[in-house]
Formats: sequence, structure tokens, C-alpha cells
Amino acid sequence: MSKYTIKNLSNKFPTKDITKDDKINKLPLSTSKKNKKIISLGDGIVFGQNSIPIIAGPNGVENYKLMYETAKCLKKNKISIIRGHAYKPLTFPYRSRQYKESKNEGMDIMDTIKKDFNLKVVTEVTEISYLERICETADIIQIGSRNMQNLELLRECALMGKPIILKRHFGASLRDFLGAAEHILVEGNEKLILCERGVSIPHTHRDTSRFALDIQAFPALKELTNFPIISDPSHASFWAPWVPSLTLASIAAGCDGLIIEIHKNPKKSAVDPLQPLDFNQFGNLVKTARTVARSIKRKI
Ligand code: PEP
Ligand code: MN
Repeated sequence: MSKYTIKNLSNKFPTKDITKDDKINKLPLSTSKKNKKIISLGDGIVFGQNSIPIIAGPNGVENYKLMYETAKCLKKNKISIIRGHAYKPLTFPYRSRQYKESKNEGMDIMDTIKKDFNLKVVTEVTEISYLERICETADIIQIGSRNMQNLELLRECALMGKPIILKRHFGASLRDFLGAAEHILVEGNEKLILCERGVSIPHTHRDTSRFALDIQAFPALKELTNFPIISDPSHASFWAPWVPSLTLASIAAGCDGLIIEIHKNPKKSAVDPLQPLDFNQFGNLVKTARTVARSIKRKI
């Protein structure tokens, strides 16, 4: 019997990186290479195949008008998935006066937009008690980085049976990231999309930038897992001028999708105004991204 077939359920060989033993005993579902994991939202929108779907929208569902304008911009650029959070985790407890979580009212706005524009919806869940309302409208539930190891939330989300975007915590190793993913898979939900959104490093080269996109995570995760891996260059850099190059780099690195924050008037964004692209910048980026994708025989 090889030493790797011995069940190691303890942390007898603790490590930051993923060992053969981890793959067998701790991460059997997330690291299974048996078949490619494909997550289909219907209407030809698929994660985990040749296409690279883009998810775009503002940080929060601020009001109907903003989501209406955003939906129009997505349609113009032939993008099919809108994002916007009605429930929002914030790093600090203080909120600008213009900003409040729009909660159920925000979900109602997303519902109207979804139906009127025939778009798919991604929105974040921060608490189990919001799940039911979110699932009425959302096509994908997003679990934010701050909740990556909120295991009870992971479990309840998994049980809803909807596709899930699991964001990597900015301080988590891939081992811990896949460990969190395993908590979803073990509940029988295989509609899992992994998201790299930047990690904390000692400096980020600019005081307006916050995290650094771990570009190496894409090929590394491709070796480890068959689940789609998408990129969020907006939350990684926090700095809109860097988002286009990080988007193109993510495509080149093999990402299976993108989350890009956009706003009609970024300066007026209620949260993180340095982060979103305006609609014009987004339109230009989508064009370039399509060219880069085509050059590696993928499609946006
Ligand atoms: C977000 O997508 O709006 C968000 C808060 O992302 P993260 O959890 O990666 O910070
Ligand atoms: Mn955000």
C-alpha cells in the first residue's frame, strides 16, 4: 500500500501547499480530474468551456436608474450577466450617507431588470436569512472573500442547489480555498465557480491600490481542479486604470470568466469610487478582451 492511500484525516502533515495526500484525503471532490466541470446558466451562457463570460455591474444596487443604465450598457456590449449587491459586506462599519444596503428593495430592482432585459443575475449573500429572497432572483449566488470560510453559510448556499461563485479570501492559500470549496461540494452541489480576486501583499505599488491579482493562481488552480476559475480584476487592484491590463492578463492566464465593476458615474459610486470603469471604458475593454480571447482560441 502506498503511503498516500493511508487515510490522513488529521493534520499530521500540515502544509501551506497541496500535497498528494491532501488531494486524496482532504480535497477529493475539488481536485478530482475525472471530468471537466461545466456550469450552464441557460441561454447558451456557460462557465468551464471555451467561452469566457463577463459579469459586470456596480458594487451595490444603489437604485433602479443605475441598474437600468447598467443593463442598457451590458446589452449594447452583448454581455449577459449583471452584478450588483443588495446585501453588502463592508470593511468598515461606517457608511457614506448616500449608501445603504438596498436589501429586499434592491433584489426587487434586480428582478425587474432581469426580466426586462433578459439578463442573468449575480448577487452576494452575507447572511443565511437573506438566502431565500436572493435565490428567487439570482442565477448565481456570490460568496464574498470575507465569507470564504463562513462554513455554515457555505453549507446553506450549497443546499439551495444554485450555481455559486466562491471568492478566494485575500489571505488564503489555495489549500484553504479548495478546502472551502470542498465544503460546498460535499453537500452535493457541483455548480461551483472559483474566483481569484487579489491577495494582500506587503505593498501594492500605489496608495490607491489595495490587493494584488494573483495571476499565478490561474495556472496553479488549473493543475489542481477542473472547476472553472474566474477573475475579478476590479476588487484585486481597487484602481480602475489598472483593470484593463489585469483583465487581459487574466484571459492570457486562462481564466474562465471575469467580474468587472462598472458604474455610470464612477466618482458618484456609493462604495469604492476608485474601482469601477465607466461605461465607455468598459465598452473599449470588452472589444480588446474579445480580441485577446480570440487569439488564444477562446470566445467572449
Ligand atoms: C464584491 O464583489 O463586491 C466584493 C465585495 O468582493 P470581495 O468579496 O472579493 O471583496
Ligand atoms: Mn465591491
